[in-house]
Amino acid sequence: NLSERLESAFKNIKGEGRITELNIAATVKDIRRALVDADVNYKIAKDFTDTVKDKAQGSKVLLAVNPGQQMVKIVQDELTELMGGTESELELKGAPAVILIAGLQGSGKTTFSGKLANYLKTQKGKSPLLVAADIYRPAAIDQLTVLAGQIGVDIYSERENKDAVAIVQNAIKEAKSKNKNVVIIDTAGRLAIDEVLMKEVADIKAAVNPNEILFVVDSMTGQDAVNTAKAFNDRLNFTGVVLTKLDGDTRGGAALSIKYTVNKPIKFVSSGEKMDTLDVFYPDRMAQRILGMGDITSLVEKAQAQFDEEQAKKLEKKIRKNQFDFEDFKQQLEQIKKMGNLKDLMGMIPGMGKAMKDIEISDDSFKGVEAIINSMTPQERANPDLISQSRRLRIAKGSGKDIAEVNAFMKQFEQMKQMMSMMNKMPMGKMMPGMGR
Ligand code: GDP
Ligand code: MG
Repeated sequence: NLSERLESAFKNIKGEGRITELNIAATVKDIRRALVDADVNYKIAKDFTDTVKDKAQGSKVLLAVNPGQQMVKIVQDELTELMGGTESELELKGAPAVILIAGLQGSGKTTFSGKLANYLKTQKGKSPLLVAADIYRPAAIDQLTVLAGQIGVDIYSERENKDAVAIVQNAIKEAKSKNKNVVIIDTAGRLAIDEVLMKEVADIKAAVNPNEILFVVDSMTGQDAVNTAKAFNDRLNFTGVVLTKLDGDTRGGAALSIKYTVNKPIKFVSSGEKMDTLDVFYPDRMAQRILGMGDITSLVEKAQAQFDEEQAKKLEKKIRKNQFDFEDFKQQLEQIKKMGNLKDLMGMIPGMGKAMKDIEISDDSFKGVEAIINSMTPQERANPDLISQSRRLRIAKGSGKDIAEVNAFMKQFEQMKQMMSMMNKMPMGKMMPGMGR
Protein backbone atom coordinates (compact mmCIF):
# COMPACT_ATOMS: atom_id res chain seq x y z
CA ASN A 1 0.00 0.00 0.00
CA LEU A 2 0.91 3.66 -0.19
CA SER A 3 2.20 3.89 3.36
CA GLU A 4 4.60 1.03 2.89
CA ARG A 5 5.77 2.33 -0.46
CA LEU A 6 6.48 5.76 0.95
CA GLU A 7 8.26 4.25 3.91
CA SER A 8 10.56 2.33 1.63
CA ALA A 9 11.09 5.49 -0.43
CA PHE A 10 12.44 7.18 2.69
CA LYS A 11 14.94 4.40 3.28
CA ASN A 12 17.18 6.09 0.74
CA ILE A 13 17.98 8.91 3.06
CA LYS A 14 17.55 7.26 6.41
CA GLY A 15 20.84 6.89 8.14
CA GLU A 16 22.58 9.30 5.82
CA GLY A 17 24.20 12.20 7.56
CA ARG A 18 22.37 14.88 5.71
CA ILE A 19 20.11 15.59 2.82
CA THR A 20 22.09 15.74 -0.39
CA GLU A 21 21.04 16.48 -3.95
CA LEU A 22 21.55 12.85 -4.78
CA ASN A 23 19.47 11.24 -2.11
CA ILE A 24 16.72 13.83 -2.52
CA ALA A 25 16.46 13.01 -6.20
CA ALA A 26 16.31 9.28 -5.60
CA THR A 27 13.78 9.58 -2.80
CA VAL A 28 11.57 11.97 -4.71
CA LYS A 29 11.53 9.60 -7.65
CA ASP A 30 10.44 6.73 -5.40
CA ILE A 31 7.76 8.85 -3.78
CA ARG A 32 6.44 9.83 -7.20
CA ARG A 33 6.27 6.22 -8.28
CA ALA A 34 4.50 5.22 -5.06
CA LEU A 35 1.90 7.96 -5.55
CA VAL A 36 1.23 7.02 -9.16
CA ASP A 37 0.86 3.38 -8.16
CA ALA A 38 -1.64 4.46 -5.51
CA ASP A 39 -3.82 5.95 -8.26
CA VAL A 40 -2.66 9.51 -7.91
CA ASN A 41 -2.73 11.19 -11.29
CA TYR A 42 0.76 11.52 -12.81
CA LYS A 43 0.64 15.27 -13.16
CA ILE A 44 -0.47 15.72 -9.57
CA ALA A 45 2.23 13.35 -8.36
CA LYS A 46 4.84 15.24 -10.35
CA ASP A 47 3.76 18.67 -9.13
CA PHE A 48 3.72 17.31 -5.62
CA THR A 49 7.18 15.81 -5.72
CA ASP A 50 8.61 18.90 -7.44
CA THR A 51 7.44 20.96 -4.49
CA VAL A 52 8.86 18.46 -2.02
CA LYS A 53 12.16 18.52 -3.87
CA ASP A 54 12.38 22.32 -3.76
CA LYS A 55 11.56 22.41 -0.09
CA ALA A 56 14.04 19.66 0.77
CA GLN A 57 16.84 21.37 -1.13
CA GLY A 58 16.04 24.71 0.41
CA SER A 59 15.78 23.38 3.94
CA LYS A 60 18.53 23.99 6.41
CA VAL A 61 20.09 20.81 7.58
CA LEU A 62 19.24 20.27 11.18
CA LEU A 63 21.98 18.68 13.13
CA ALA A 64 19.73 17.21 15.74
CA VAL A 65 17.49 15.05 13.60
CA ASN A 66 18.29 12.72 10.82
CA PRO A 67 17.50 13.70 7.26
CA GLY A 68 15.04 10.85 6.81
CA GLN A 69 12.83 12.43 9.42
CA GLN A 70 13.23 15.87 7.88
CA MET A 71 12.16 14.52 4.55
CA VAL A 72 9.17 12.79 6.10
CA LYS A 73 8.23 16.08 7.71
CA ILE A 74 8.44 17.93 4.40
CA VAL A 75 6.38 15.27 2.63
CA GLN A 76 3.84 15.23 5.40
CA ASP A 77 3.45 19.02 5.34
CA GLU A 78 3.02 18.95 1.58
CA LEU A 79 0.50 16.11 1.71
CA THR A 80 -1.46 18.12 4.26
CA GLU A 81 -1.44 21.13 1.94
CA LEU A 82 -2.45 19.00 -1.03
CA MET A 83 -5.47 17.77 0.85
CA GLY A 84 -6.61 21.23 1.84
CA GLY A 85 -4.46 22.33 4.77
CA THR A 86 -7.04 22.55 7.52
CA GLU A 87 -10.41 21.01 8.20
CA SER A 88 -13.48 22.55 6.64
CA GLU A 89 -16.70 23.13 8.58
CA LEU A 90 -20.25 22.70 7.34
CA GLU A 91 -22.19 25.89 6.66
CA LEU A 92 -25.46 25.47 8.53
CA LYS A 93 -27.12 28.88 8.56
CA GLY A 94 -30.84 29.11 7.94
CA ALA A 95 -33.98 27.57 9.33
CA PRO A 96 -33.66 24.90 8.25
CA ALA A 97 -30.20 24.51 6.73
CA VAL A 98 -30.36 22.20 3.71
CA ILE A 99 -27.74 19.60 2.85
CA LEU A 100 -27.99 17.84 -0.49
CA ILE A 101 -26.22 14.49 -0.84
CA ALA A 102 -25.13 13.44 -4.34
CA GLY A 103 -23.04 10.70 -5.87
CA LEU A 104 -23.08 7.47 -7.84
CA GLN A 105 -25.13 4.45 -6.80
CA GLY A 106 -23.34 2.41 -4.17
CA SER A 107 -20.98 5.21 -3.23
CA GLY A 108 -22.46 5.27 0.25
CA LYS A 109 -24.93 8.20 0.09
CA THR A 110 -27.70 6.64 2.14
CA THR A 111 -25.30 5.31 4.75
CA PHE A 112 -23.58 8.70 4.94
CA SER A 113 -26.91 10.53 5.24
CA GLY A 114 -27.64 8.47 8.34
CA LYS A 115 -24.17 9.04 9.76
CA LEU A 116 -24.35 12.77 9.12
CA ALA A 117 -27.75 13.02 10.82
CA ASN A 118 -26.33 11.11 13.77
CA TYR A 119 -23.24 13.34 13.88
CA LEU A 120 -25.26 16.57 13.75
CA LYS A 121 -27.63 15.29 16.40
CA THR A 122 -25.06 13.94 18.85
CA GLN A 123 -22.06 16.21 18.23
CA LYS A 124 -23.66 19.49 17.18
CA GLY A 125 -26.92 19.43 19.09
CA LYS A 126 -28.95 19.78 15.90
CA SER A 127 -32.38 18.45 15.18
CA PRO A 128 -32.14 16.90 11.71
CA LEU A 129 -34.76 15.60 9.29
CA LEU A 130 -33.72 12.90 6.82
CA VAL A 131 -35.38 13.03 3.42
CA ALA A 132 -35.66 10.01 1.12
CA ALA A 133 -35.53 11.49 -2.35
CA ASP A 134 -34.56 8.28 -4.12
CA ILE A 135 -37.81 7.78 -6.01
CA TYR A 136 -36.74 4.79 -8.07
CA ARG A 137 -36.23 2.08 -5.50
CA PRO A 138 -38.71 1.47 -2.66
CA ALA A 139 -35.88 -0.42 -0.96
CA ALA A 140 -33.93 2.83 -0.75
CA ILE A 141 -36.69 4.39 1.36
CA ASP A 142 -36.74 1.29 3.58
CA GLN A 143 -32.97 1.49 4.01
CA LEU A 144 -33.07 5.11 5.13
CA THR A 145 -36.06 4.41 7.39
CA VAL A 146 -34.14 1.66 9.19
CA LEU A 147 -31.10 3.89 9.66
CA ALA A 148 -33.25 6.77 10.92
CA GLY A 149 -34.82 4.40 13.44
CA GLN A 150 -31.40 3.27 14.65
CA ILE A 151 -30.23 6.79 15.39
CA GLY A 152 -33.56 8.17 16.53
CA VAL A 153 -33.93 10.81 13.82
CA ASP A 154 -37.14 11.65 11.93
CA ILE A 155 -37.47 10.77 8.25
CA TYR A 156 -39.63 12.25 5.52
CA SER A 157 -40.71 10.16 2.52
CA GLU A 158 -43.55 9.90 0.00
CA ARG A 159 -43.86 6.45 -1.48
CA GLU A 160 -46.41 7.38 -4.17
CA ASN A 161 -44.79 10.59 -5.36
CA LYS A 162 -42.44 10.27 -8.36
CA ASP A 163 -41.34 13.90 -8.36
CA ALA A 164 -38.13 14.26 -6.38
CA VAL A 165 -38.23 18.06 -6.43
CA ALA A 166 -41.75 18.13 -5.02
CA ILE A 167 -40.83 15.64 -2.30
CA VAL A 168 -37.90 17.78 -1.22
CA GLN A 169 -40.02 20.95 -1.16
CA ASN A 170 -42.64 19.21 0.94
CA ALA A 171 -39.94 17.92 3.26
CA ILE A 172 -38.65 21.42 3.89
CA LYS A 173 -42.16 22.61 4.76
CA GLU A 174 -42.45 19.70 7.17
CA ALA A 175 -39.07 20.56 8.71
CA LYS A 176 -40.20 24.14 9.34
CA SER A 177 -43.44 23.04 10.96
CA LYS A 178 -41.61 20.54 13.18
CA ASN A 179 -38.77 22.91 14.11
CA LYS A 180 -36.09 20.79 12.46
CA ASN A 181 -32.99 22.91 11.84
CA VAL A 182 -31.16 20.71 9.33
CA VAL A 183 -32.62 18.86 6.35
CA ILE A 184 -30.49 16.10 4.83
CA ILE A 185 -31.57 15.05 1.36
CA ASP A 186 -30.55 11.54 0.28
CA THR A 187 -30.84 11.35 -3.49
CA ALA A 188 -30.90 8.54 -6.03
CA GLY A 189 -27.71 7.50 -7.72
CA ARG A 190 -26.86 5.61 -10.86
CA LEU A 191 -24.08 3.27 -11.70
CA ALA A 192 -22.53 5.74 -14.10
CA ILE A 193 -22.81 9.44 -14.72
CA ASP A 194 -25.79 10.15 -16.97
CA GLU A 195 -28.00 13.06 -17.89
CA VAL A 196 -31.15 11.86 -16.09
CA LEU A 197 -29.30 11.59 -12.81
CA MET A 198 -27.48 14.89 -13.20
CA LYS A 199 -30.62 16.75 -14.18
CA GLU A 200 -32.54 15.43 -11.21
CA VAL A 201 -29.95 16.55 -8.69
CA ALA A 202 -29.46 19.85 -10.50
CA ASP A 203 -33.24 20.44 -10.40
CA ILE A 204 -33.32 19.80 -6.65
CA LYS A 205 -30.44 22.19 -6.24
CA ALA A 206 -32.20 24.90 -8.24
CA ALA A 207 -35.46 24.42 -6.31
CA VAL A 208 -34.12 24.52 -2.75
CA ASN A 209 -30.76 26.29 -2.96
CA PRO A 210 -28.95 24.07 -0.43
CA ASN A 211 -26.38 25.39 2.07
CA GLU A 212 -24.19 22.41 1.30
CA ILE A 213 -24.00 19.99 -1.61
CA LEU A 214 -21.87 17.08 -0.52
CA PHE A 215 -20.47 14.79 -3.17
CA VAL A 216 -20.08 11.25 -1.83
CA VAL A 217 -17.42 9.08 -3.40
CA ASP A 218 -16.16 5.59 -2.78
CA SER A 219 -12.44 5.93 -2.04
CA MET A 220 -11.82 2.44 -3.36
CA THR A 221 -12.63 3.47 -6.92
CA GLY A 222 -9.20 5.06 -7.34
CA GLN A 223 -8.62 7.15 -10.43
CA ASP A 224 -12.34 6.88 -11.34
CA ALA A 225 -13.20 8.77 -8.19
CA VAL A 226 -11.41 11.80 -9.58
CA ASN A 227 -13.25 11.65 -12.92
CA THR A 228 -16.61 11.26 -11.19
CA ALA A 229 -15.81 14.15 -8.87
CA LYS A 230 -14.99 16.32 -11.84
CA ALA A 231 -18.24 15.47 -13.66
CA PHE A 232 -20.39 16.15 -10.59
CA ASN A 233 -18.56 19.36 -9.81
CA ASP A 234 -18.90 20.68 -13.37
CA ARG A 235 -22.64 20.19 -13.13
CA LEU A 236 -23.41 20.91 -9.47
CA ASN A 237 -20.55 23.04 -8.25
CA PHE A 238 -20.70 21.10 -4.99
CA THR A 239 -19.40 22.50 -1.70
CA GLY A 240 -17.56 19.52 -0.31
CA VAL A 241 -16.50 15.92 -0.70
CA VAL A 242 -17.20 12.87 1.45
CA LEU A 243 -14.79 9.98 1.09
CA THR A 244 -16.37 6.66 2.02
CA LYS A 245 -15.11 3.14 2.60
CA LEU A 246 -11.75 4.21 3.92
CA ASP A 247 -11.91 1.08 6.06
CA GLY A 248 -11.48 -1.01 2.93
CA ASP A 249 -8.33 -1.80 1.04
CA THR A 250 -8.15 1.66 -0.42
CA ARG A 251 -5.01 2.79 -2.10
CA GLY A 252 -5.37 6.29 -0.77
CA GLY A 253 -4.91 8.06 -4.06
CA ALA A 254 -8.42 9.50 -4.20
CA ALA A 255 -8.02 11.69 -1.15
CA LEU A 256 -4.86 13.13 -2.61
CA SER A 257 -6.18 13.83 -6.08
CA ILE A 258 -9.72 15.07 -5.54
CA LYS A 259 -8.94 18.27 -3.70
CA TYR A 260 -6.30 19.08 -6.29
CA THR A 261 -8.61 18.38 -9.24
CA VAL A 262 -11.84 20.08 -8.19
CA ASN A 263 -10.44 22.40 -5.53
CA LYS A 264 -13.23 21.58 -3.09
CA PRO A 265 -12.54 20.53 0.47
CA ILE A 266 -12.97 17.00 1.70
CA LYS A 267 -15.31 17.46 4.65
CA PHE A 268 -15.89 13.97 6.00
CA VAL A 269 -14.44 10.52 5.81
CA SER A 270 -16.46 7.44 6.48
CA SER A 271 -14.95 4.15 7.39
CA GLY A 272 -17.52 1.51 8.19
CA GLU A 273 -21.19 0.70 8.06
CA LYS A 274 -21.93 1.58 11.68
CA MET A 275 -23.64 4.92 12.25
CA ASP A 276 -20.86 6.29 14.46
CA THR A 277 -17.96 5.73 12.07
CA LEU A 278 -18.05 9.19 10.52
CA ASP A 279 -15.10 11.49 10.97
CA VAL A 280 -14.46 15.11 10.18
CA PHE A 281 -11.65 15.15 7.63
CA TYR A 282 -8.39 16.50 9.02
CA PRO A 283 -5.81 16.87 6.24
CA ASP A 284 -2.89 16.64 8.66
CA ARG A 285 -4.15 13.42 10.22
CA MET A 286 -4.81 11.93 6.81
CA ALA A 287 -1.28 12.80 5.75
CA GLN A 288 0.00 11.11 8.87
CA ARG A 289 -2.15 8.09 8.15
CA ILE A 290 -0.87 7.88 4.60
CA LEU A 291 2.67 8.09 5.83
CA GLY A 292 1.80 5.67 8.60
CA MET A 293 5.01 6.38 10.39
CA GLY A 294 4.24 7.32 13.93
CA ASP A 295 4.05 10.80 15.25
CA ILE A 296 7.11 12.01 13.38
CA THR A 297 5.97 15.58 13.11
CA SER A 298 5.90 16.25 16.79
CA LEU A 299 9.22 14.50 17.27
CA VAL A 300 10.92 16.62 14.64
CA GLU A 301 9.25 19.78 15.86
CA LYS A 302 10.39 19.17 19.41
CA ALA A 303 13.90 18.61 18.21
CA GLN A 304 13.78 21.71 16.05
CA ALA A 305 12.61 23.82 18.95
CA GLN A 306 15.14 22.64 21.45
CA PHE A 307 18.39 21.97 19.73
CA ASP A 308 20.71 24.86 19.34
CA GLU A 309 22.49 24.43 16.09
CA GLU A 310 25.50 26.48 17.13
CA GLN A 311 25.97 24.49 20.26
CA ALA A 312 25.73 21.29 18.31
CA LYS A 313 28.43 22.48 15.94
CA LYS A 314 30.76 23.30 18.81
CA LEU A 315 30.09 19.90 20.24
CA GLU A 316 30.76 18.23 16.95
CA LYS A 317 34.15 19.91 16.83
CA LYS A 318 34.99 18.74 20.32
CA ILE A 319 33.99 15.20 19.51
CA ARG A 320 36.11 15.25 16.37
CA LYS A 321 39.10 16.30 18.46
CA ASN A 322 38.20 13.68 21.04
CA GLN A 323 37.76 16.42 23.64
CA PHE A 324 34.26 15.48 24.71
CA ASP A 325 34.08 15.96 28.48
CA PHE A 326 31.67 15.72 31.40
CA GLU A 327 30.46 19.27 30.94
CA ASP A 328 29.41 18.41 27.39
CA PHE A 329 27.79 15.27 28.64
CA LYS A 330 25.80 17.24 31.17
CA GLN A 331 24.66 19.71 28.52
CA GLN A 332 23.50 16.85 26.36
CA LEU A 333 21.46 15.45 29.21
CA GLU A 334 19.87 18.84 29.68
CA GLN A 335 18.97 19.05 26.00
CA ILE A 336 17.38 15.66 26.16
CA LYS A 337 15.45 16.57 29.27
CA LYS A 338 14.20 19.77 27.65
CA MET A 339 12.73 17.68 24.88
CA GLY A 340 10.48 16.01 27.39
CA ASN A 341 10.11 12.64 28.92
CA LEU A 342 12.64 10.34 27.36
CA LYS A 343 10.35 7.37 27.11
CA ASP A 344 7.63 9.41 25.39
CA LEU A 345 10.20 10.87 23.07
CA MET A 346 11.51 7.51 22.01
CA GLY A 347 7.96 6.23 21.66
CA MET A 348 7.45 8.72 18.87
CA ILE A 349 10.15 7.12 16.77
CA PRO A 350 8.45 4.89 14.18
CA GLY A 351 8.60 1.28 15.21
CA MET A 352 9.81 2.14 18.70
CA GLY A 353 6.37 2.54 20.22
CA LYS A 354 5.84 -1.17 20.66
CA ALA A 355 9.38 -1.96 21.70
CA MET A 356 9.26 0.72 24.39
CA LYS A 357 6.44 -0.98 26.26
CA ASP A 358 8.77 -3.62 27.63
CA ILE A 359 11.76 -1.43 28.28
CA GLU A 360 12.18 0.55 31.44
CA ILE A 361 13.75 3.90 30.76
CA SER A 362 13.04 6.21 33.60
CA ASP A 363 14.10 9.81 33.66
CA ASP A 364 15.44 8.92 37.09
CA SER A 365 18.26 6.90 35.60
CA PHE A 366 19.68 10.22 34.41
CA LYS A 367 19.36 11.84 37.78
CA GLY A 368 22.04 9.59 39.24
CA VAL A 369 24.42 10.46 36.45
CA GLU A 370 23.68 14.13 36.84
CA ALA A 371 24.36 14.00 40.56
CA ILE A 372 27.74 12.41 39.89
CA ILE A 373 28.69 15.06 37.36
CA ASN A 374 27.46 17.82 39.64
CA SER A 375 29.86 16.63 42.34
CA MET A 376 32.86 17.05 40.05
CA THR A 377 34.87 20.26 40.05
CA PRO A 378 34.90 22.27 36.81
CA GLN A 379 38.50 21.13 36.21
CA GLU A 380 37.48 17.50 36.62
CA ARG A 381 34.57 17.93 34.22
CA ALA A 382 36.83 19.45 31.61
CA ASN A 383 39.61 16.89 32.12
CA PRO A 384 38.15 13.48 32.81
CA ASP A 385 41.68 12.05 32.99
CA LEU A 386 42.25 14.02 36.18
CA ILE A 387 39.80 11.90 38.10
CA SER A 388 41.87 9.59 40.25
CA GLN A 389 40.66 6.95 42.68
CA SER A 390 40.67 9.37 45.61
CA ARG A 391 38.74 11.94 43.61
CA ARG A 392 36.22 9.24 42.75
CA LEU A 393 35.70 8.54 46.43
CA ARG A 394 35.06 12.23 47.06
CA ILE A 395 32.63 12.41 44.13
CA ALA A 396 30.79 9.34 45.40
CA LYS A 397 30.37 10.91 48.83
CA GLY A 398 29.33 14.26 47.41
CA SER A 399 26.70 12.77 45.14
CA GLY A 400 25.41 10.28 47.66
CA LYS A 401 26.28 7.44 45.29
CA ASP A 402 28.13 4.24 45.75
CA ILE A 403 31.79 4.20 44.68
CA ALA A 404 30.82 1.26 42.43
CA GLU A 405 28.24 3.42 40.69
CA VAL A 406 30.78 6.17 40.13
CA ASN A 407 33.26 3.66 38.75
CA ALA A 408 30.63 2.17 36.46
CA PHE A 409 29.69 5.56 35.12
CA MET A 410 33.35 6.51 34.55
CA LYS A 411 33.83 3.29 32.64
CA GLN A 412 30.73 3.91 30.51
CA PHE A 413 31.93 7.39 29.77
CA GLU A 414 35.33 6.07 28.64
CA GLN A 415 33.63 3.54 26.38
CA MET A 416 31.45 6.23 24.95
CA LYS A 417 34.48 8.36 24.17
CA GLN A 418 36.12 5.42 22.46
CA MET A 419 33.04 4.89 20.38
CA MET A 420 32.99 8.55 19.49
CA SER A 421 36.52 8.50 18.24
CA MET A 422 35.61 5.49 16.11
CA MET A 423 32.61 7.24 14.68
CA ASN A 424 34.50 10.43 14.10
CA LYS A 425 34.19 10.23 10.37
CA MET A 426 30.45 10.25 10.59
CA PRO A 427 28.45 13.46 10.62
CA MET A 428 26.57 14.61 13.67
CA GLY A 429 23.09 13.82 12.49
CA LYS A 430 23.71 10.17 12.92
CA MET A 431 25.40 10.35 16.27
CA MET A 432 23.19 12.64 18.24
CA PRO A 433 20.15 10.43 18.62
CA GLY A 434 22.29 7.66 20.05
CA MET A 435 23.88 9.80 22.68
CA GLY A 436 21.02 9.94 25.08
CA ARG A 437 20.66 6.21 25.42
P1 GDP B 1 -25.81 4.63 -2.01
O1 GDP B 1 -26.28 3.78 -3.13
O2 GDP B 1 -24.91 5.70 -2.49
O3 GDP B 1 -26.92 5.15 -1.17
O4 GDP B 1 -24.92 3.69 -1.07
P2 GDP B 1 -25.27 2.96 0.29
O5 GDP B 1 -25.26 3.91 1.42
O6 GDP B 1 -26.50 2.15 0.12
O7 GDP B 1 -24.00 2.04 0.45
C1 GDP B 1 -23.68 1.01 -0.47
C2 GDP B 1 -23.01 -0.12 0.29
O8 GDP B 1 -21.78 0.30 0.83
C3 GDP B 1 -23.83 -0.61 1.47
O9 GDP B 1 -23.69 -2.01 1.56
C4 GDP B 1 -23.19 0.07 2.65
O10 GDP B 1 -23.38 -0.67 3.83
C5 GDP B 1 -21.75 0.12 2.23
N1 GDP B 1 -21.02 1.25 2.81
C6 GDP B 1 -21.36 2.55 2.82
N2 GDP B 1 -20.41 3.30 3.43
C7 GDP B 1 -19.46 2.44 3.83
C8 GDP B 1 -18.19 2.60 4.51
O11 GDP B 1 -17.75 3.69 4.88
N3 GDP B 1 -17.48 1.48 4.72
C9 GDP B 1 -17.92 0.25 4.32
N4 GDP B 1 -17.15 -0.80 4.56
N5 GDP B 1 -19.07 0.06 3.68
C10 GDP B 1 -19.83 1.15 3.43
MG1 MG C 1 -28.97 5.14 -1.49
